[in-house]
Amino acid sequence: MATKKKNNTIKLNFDTVRNYAPALESKSAATIKPQYDLFINGKFEKPLSKKYFSTINPSNEEKLSEVAEANTADVNRAVKAARSAYEKVWKKMAAKERAKYIFRIARIIQEKARELSIIETLDGGKPIRESRDFDIPAAANHFFYYAGWADKLEYAFPNRNANPLGVAGQIIPWNFPLLMAAWKIAPALATGNTVVLKSAETTPLTALKLAEIIQEADLPAGVVNIITGGGETGAALVNHTDINKIAFTGSTEVGKIIQKATAGTNKKLTLELGGKAANIIFEDAALDEAVEGVINGIYFNQGQVCCAGSRLYIQESVAKEVIKKLKDRLESLIVGDPLDKNTDVGAINSRQQLETIQKYLKIGQQEGAEKYESSCALPQKGFWCRPTLFTNVAQSNRIAQEEIFGPVLAILTFRTDDEIIEKANNSPYGLSAGVWTDKGSKIFNMTKRLKAGVVWANTFNKFDPTAPFGGYKESGYGREGGLHGLMPYVNLSNK
Ligand code: ADP
Repeated sequence: MATKKKNNTIKLNFDTVRNYAPALESKSAATIKPQYDLFINGKFEKPLSKKYFSTINPSNEEKLSEVAEANTADVNRAVKAARSAYEKVWKKMAAKERAKYIFRIARIIQEKARELSIIETLDGGKPIRESRDFDIPAAANHFFYYAGWADKLEYAFPNRNANPLGVAGQIIPWNFPLLMAAWKIAPALATGNTVVLKSAETTPLTALKLAEIIQEADLPAGVVNIITGGGETGAALVNHTDINKIAFTGSTEVGKIIQKATAGTNKKLTLELGGKAANIIFEDAALDEAVEGVINGIYFNQGQVCCAGSRLYIQESVAKEVIKKLKDRLESLIVGDPLDKNTDVGAINSRQQLETIQKYLKIGQQEGAEKYESSCALPQKGFWCRPTLFTNVAQSNRIAQEEIFGPVLAILTFRTDDEIIEKANNSPYGLSAGVWTDKGSKIFNMTKRLKAGVVWANTFNKFDPTAPFGGYKESGYGREGGLHGLMPYVNLSNK
């Protein structure tokens, strides 16, 4: 794989790197039914709409299953079940009993981790390494973490009563299907709320598996209801008059629609929206580590993460060197079958998303930026995009300002601390950022001045259920995770 050159530097033979023997995860370890109904009041119910839609594997366009499309009458049924479970069972239950159910869900997720990972990868297109090592363990950890809080709310909110809100309507996107469900359901249950959750139209399967897990955990009927459908189903949930809280993760565009729809109502709202994270490399950083962090931040997840490090700012003195290293590393990324354990970069989630990315690739070139892409071969079928970077990018270019949501990196340079703060904060978004430097003082200086909900230092895309996550500006408001993640689900009153 590596050969020594005369001057003692190691040269990687990228052809060899790409030619790893396939190590395919087995599809047979997962059961996917040909059709799924809506999970309402503890049972799978046929949709009143009588409609179903297909969910496909984006890596080869094969149909995986069909799922129900909930209409307004179906949403009404789900909300009614959640209201009844809230009034009759869940709000009255002792907190330590509620905790036991949440623990049980966490344990069953762990037991079924392999199956859930395979389904996540089949339905969403992300590499099995990501779903197996990150998505599914993180989802279980979230349930464990909030199970721990359920009977300790008096310590979370000292001298205050933490009262549940009632019924929470939760709408999630396709990039982390099971993890986003966990982020939303776990804190809601721990604080005594009941839930109607709508999964994204292209990735409904792990949420429906979660419904099976919830049945297996014997959670009282109606406490969690899981419905499937598209934007209209989501809108029916948002507009339902018997919902007390909406939690949404998705695009800024839909977030704005939801904000308008809930304005003037009593519904509490949290929004986790888009991002355009600045990843900043200072000249004193450990450059190889930084390059690996940048690659992790934008390519390992196909750039389909709202906190993806999609803008890279390199201090001018090391820019040439870093760009060279990045181009070399891009060439060694393994793009292909998401079920292969060697794969670094999987499929794009949908044809629509691929078209959006392709539109931005054209825009980048029209704006005068220089495009460089991996020379890897792409599979014939499915939705694929080569890992790409743009150099010669101006701050005002659309590829540096707008969320692309694909494996496309915009590279810019800077000279001074003040300049980089101005450039990094010059964005409508403020979800995350990264700082790479050898100096602790610089990290503190930057993290204080960067307008981003999360700033990673000498690492990127690291998550923990104990840490809050959320944005500034058009990236939304409210925090999920950690102690802060309990807040959106309670009304506090004096003791
Ligand atoms: P993404 O670009 O991440 O798919 P979207 O904002 O389009 O983001 O979708 C996120 C979630 O919001 C999905 O579950 C989708 O079905 C839902 N959704 C789309 N339009 C609406 C709407 N008008 N009201 C409520 N939910 C919606």
